[in-house]
Amino acid sequence: MDKEIFDFFNTDLQFIHGVGPVLASKFNDVLGGRRVLDFLLHMPSYVRPREILDSVMDAQNGDTITISVMVKSHKRGGTFKGKRRPTQIICADKFAAPLTIQFFNVNYLDYWMEKLPIGQWRIISGKLEFSNKNGAIINHPDFIETPENAEKIPTHQAIYPSGEGLTQKTFANVRNQIFNIIHEKFNASNTSENMLEFLDALEHVHFPETNEDLAPNSTYVAKLAYCELFAHQSAIAINRRIRKSQTNTRALRAKKHDLMTNFYNILPFKLTNAQQRTIDEIFVDFEKPVPMMRLVQGDVGSGKTMVACAAAVKMAESGAQSVLLAPTDTLAQQHFAKIKPMCDKLGLVCDILTGRDKGVARREKLISLKSGRTKVAIGTHALFSEDVEYKDLGLVIIDEQHRFGVTQRTAMREKGHTPDMLALSATPIPRTLSMTVYGDMDISIINEKPAGRIPIKTTKLPVERVNALIERIAPQIQNGAKVFWVCPLVEESENSDMMAAQSRFEELNKHFHGTGLCHGQMDKKLRDKVMAEFADENSKMRVLVSTTVVEVGIDVPSATIMVIENAERFGLAALHQLRGRVGRGSQQSYCILLYGNNVSPDGIKRLDVLCETDDGFVIAEQDLMMRGVGELLGTKQSGWIQYHFVNYREHRDLFKLAQTASMDDNIDKNVWARQLRYIFDCSTMAGA
Ligand code: ADP
Ligand code: MG
Repeated sequence: MDKEIFDFFNTDLQFIHGVGPVLASKFNDVLGGRRVLDFLLHMPSYVRPREILDSVMDAQNGDTITISVMVKSHKRGGTFKGKRRPTQIICADKFAAPLTIQFFNVNYLDYWMEKLPIGQWRIISGKLEFSNKNGAIINHPDFIETPENAEKIPTHQAIYPSGEGLTQKTFANVRNQIFNIIHEKFNASNTSENMLEFLDALEHVHFPETNEDLAPNSTYVAKLAYCELFAHQSAIAINRRIRKSQTNTRALRAKKHDLMTNFYNILPFKLTNAQQRTIDEIFVDFEKPVPMMRLVQGDVGSGKTMVACAAAVKMAESGAQSVLLAPTDTLAQQHFAKIKPMCDKLGLVCDILTGRDKGVARREKLISLKSGRTKVAIGTHALFSEDVEYKDLGLVIIDEQHRFGVTQRTAMREKGHTPDMLALSATPIPRTLSMTVYGDMDISIINEKPAGRIPIKTTKLPVERVNALIERIAPQIQNGAKVFWVCPLVEESENSDMMAAQSRFEELNKHFHGTGLCHGQMDKKLRDKVMAEFADENSKMRVLVSTTVVEVGIDVPSATIMVIENAERFGLAALHQLRGRVGRGSQQSYCILLYGNNVSPDGIKRLDVLCETDDGFVIAEQDLMMRGVGELLGTKQSGWIQYHFVNYREHRDLFKLAQTASMDDNIDKNVWARQLRYIFDCSTMAGA
């Protein structure tokens, strides 16, 4: 029973009609996975009505409308005297009121003109904007249909949180196909009742009719939230039992070398009290007969890496190996650059292993790991590829732990003999929740920054004042400051996203020659190259314009200015993370939050929180109170929200119910609970 549905869940999205490998990898970026299941767990964030109007005069700026228009003329776009102009299709509605359709992507010019031939009626649907210069405009309509096909345009539409290169149309197409297959293939003859009910709830959530249907307390969302909580809580309960029954043989092993004294001697700075306390807590765990499972929470810049280092060195005293797992190549490289010199001084072999290592070089690294010669291995999930063997893996350190999926985590555990686990996270969980979220993990908190850090000055500014801002930062750039300039993703249209970053880049490049650009549609290698150039102290690249693809932990000490556009669209925790990329050196750093015209009073209030405090815990708490899940950008990266359907604020009673249900002695034999654990990928923190 249920085997087929799990096979279907695990199907790669590229096998869905119309998807293919390129789109599948874009889905991977947004969903954090590329299986049908990953798609199913991705809930729409709201429902957009597409009001059918007779005239643009009946609409307001920003409305999403569907309207019949007659195509009047075409104005070919392109680049004229260095200025980029969009392609314009001039139309008129039934009352002869003008409406211009604009396309920025010049590549598809003929295609658009063919779809909108002069002298014909078309039904179009999209977001309407009014400007003084051009009147009514729709940029990149979501739908263009002939009058006969008008019913192909939905009257309301589920809008999914998206990313670069994925349109809402693609989401709808994939969703429709997935549910068609579900209807066709799965029924009471091959699927359990629990599973069928679960699928039914998913279907309701993926085909919402109103925003109520997506509210936390609507029947189906609440049902899915309960399933998710039950999965987590049962995993936590099982893990607690397993861990208590395991013995950590290493704890009893004798120390062979004395490395810690040396370690403290070669440190270029004095550890903060909080760092020292955390290290002590870890060392006490090492002595215990059960494997360690500890989470270190500390704000960006609080010095978690050094704590991890100390743990690895201590491990090496007994001859055991440690791995430090980073979420990306770039971060692994940065860790390696810092940790390797320290290990050298201590006489410890430290190595790096990422997906880039190939051939002979890789084989040599593997031999060194297998022989036990390499004591500290830094890398990405490549560290846990099937052919990687360890002689005596004692400690697994996971940086930015929320970014790893369960498969990797299970793989890690299996490489060692009940290794100790140490997770590092920069995103604090409000203390009220940490028990329910992390359950059986012990938590150390680094609530202190290294001495001499100058607090970042944070201000907010309406985007109209951007020229004044450019003038203000110019002299600082002259003096050697580096600037991160982050533009957001817009969920509906990848083109206008790219435009946002692209046009800001062009603008800034005029002022600051050699500005870099980095976005998700670029080849990853090129992206890494740009990032590395920016990080290089001596490069001419002073300003880096990017979307949020720039990694969380990247360390550029000379970067002292962080500008975030449309800051109102990000979650507070995500903004705090972004801000943490400056203020790492000895210079005064600045964070400027630019907000758009449509910012709400609440939006301003949220930005004020950030201007007023630098305390990650306060911010996390406020973030939790001020937003609903999924409505803001960056929730994925923000770490402590790892739930798909659970809303921290609204589902507290469900937390308790799920906890009680999971206390059952036979919870490990409960098939449905096990299936849910698989679905929600949550053996993770629970380790089961
Ligand atoms: P995070 O907690 O964000 O991972 P890092 O470990 O990257 O922080 O540390 C940020 C910077 O602070 C690094 O350059 C690191 O060398 C430095 N650092 C760490 N601990 C201290 C300390 N006790 N005193 C001074 N600088 C420190
Ligand atoms: Mg870090």
